[in-house]
Amino acid sequence: MNSIMQKIESLDDVKKRNERKIKLFINSEYPDLIKLGEIMKRCRKKNRCNCLVCSVCLRRFRLQFLKKNLPKLQTLSKYYSLYLATVICNVPVNMATDSIDVFKNWFYDKLKDNHLDGLIFVGGIDYSFNQAKNQSYQPYWCQHLHFIVATNHKKLVQEALSKIFVKDGVRLKKPPQLDALKDFDDIVSVTNYSIPSYFEKRYKQKNGRTSHWSLNSKLEKEIALFLARNSPEDLKVEQNISNMGDAI
Ligand SMILES: [Zn+2]
Repeated sequence: MNSIMQKIESLDDVKKRNERKIKLFINSEYPDLIKLGEIMKRCRKKNRCNCLVCSVCLRRFRLQFLKKNLPKLQTLSKYYSLYLATVICNVPVNMATDSIDVFKNWFYDKLKDNHLDGLIFVGGIDYSFNQAKNQSYQPYWCQHLHFIVATNHKKLVQEALSKIFVKDGVRLKKPPQLDALKDFDDIVSVTNYSIPSYFEKRYKQKNGRTSHWSLNSKLEKEIALFLARNSPEDLKVEQNISNMGDAI
């Protein structure tokens, strides 16, 4: 577990992050956020709040996620090639009507409709606030998925994923890529990365590169309100991960 711990934020880091958030929420003008701040304030070792917005509970979930899935992925790697798949949805999140459940159901339904319900994968959902330096598009909350796929048919799966991810009539700008994982270290890094430790702001620069920034108070409150009723577990997506059977 030591190599895993090195890649995870320390307990002190997440406690500090929580302190900042609790102060921000309790002093906000939103009753739901004030309530959330108070719940997070009472989060204790033997009585965890299990809120997704609580950085201590999110860290705890991420550790369990790694502990549970790394042995499974290691076993799968004996029979299949493993890849990181990224699906970035360019349709802005509608903070009033969308939810993690809506996004997950859309994803699972698409897989099923396109006969990919036999695909083996595990990973998670991430949110980022995307902005372009040259203001080529309106800033928006973006939802994306990072998951580890176990398959011996890379081309077929990549083509299928590229074809199916159309949301509300808008095709993804970039087809999902499957990036091969080379060794166990790679598997650890990517599994860790697939469930985010926090959400951030991303700037697309003129040269096409993306830089990452912390959320400001306004955005921190916005995403916390959106995820106020979710638990860390809700970020997870998985299919057939314990199943060595008829995989694609
Ligand atoms: Zn908590």
